[in-house]
Amino acid sequence: MKLGVLGLQGDVPEHRRALARFVPRAHVVEVRRSADLASLDALFLPGGESTTIARLLEESGLWNPLGTAVRAGLPVLATCAGLILLARDLAPGASGTDPPTLGVLDVQVRRNDYGAQAESCEAPVRVEGLGSPPFVGAFIRSPRILSVGPSATAIAWRDREVVGARSGKVWGLTFHPELSDDPRVHRAFLRSAGLVR
Ligand code: GLN
Repeated sequence: MKLGVLGLQGDVPEHRRALARFVPRAHVVEVRRSADLASLDALFLPGGESTTIARLLEESGLWNPLGTAVRAGLPVLATCAGLILLARDLAPGASGTDPPTLGVLDVQVRRNDYGAQAESCEAPVRVEGLGSPPFVGAFIRSPRILSVGPSATAIAWRDREVVGARSGKVWGLTFHPELSDDPRVHRAFLRSAGLVR
């Protein structure tokens, strides 16, 4: 199994570490140019700064090939800034300039909508299909999912608020499963993509 981590900016090492622990038999590569997308079984979009990642995607010529690959069926697990980049659209927020988005996940999100870094936290998250105990999600200056459109479905909740959605093999989460010592979200994603049993 060949897994890619978009390696332009953000918590790339944390994603690599999580994959090494949770999916030890996978071959993991960092994606920095369009050729790196070839023959991937799934791609992970890290958290970080969505404006910076969007700019680097454009500068590296990856923006269009990435959108094309996802639309053609490449499974993607996107966390936080990664979710922002996948979203159908962004509601204007207090953070100034928003990045462009790929529009491949039918959700509307607003960046930094839970406040400043000081309000980042861990909280129990109910993820569809995971059962109990709840997943402990790390939220770091996370976006808020304001609405889930008809072609996506909610898959994760913090209290009653949606914190994750998917459209087929494209998953977007406002929290960071790569920072939790719990492989269940990664496994559920890989299972839904038909890559593990
Ligand atoms: N606040 C960041 C942004 O808007 C996302 C934070 C994160 O990925 N942890 O891009």
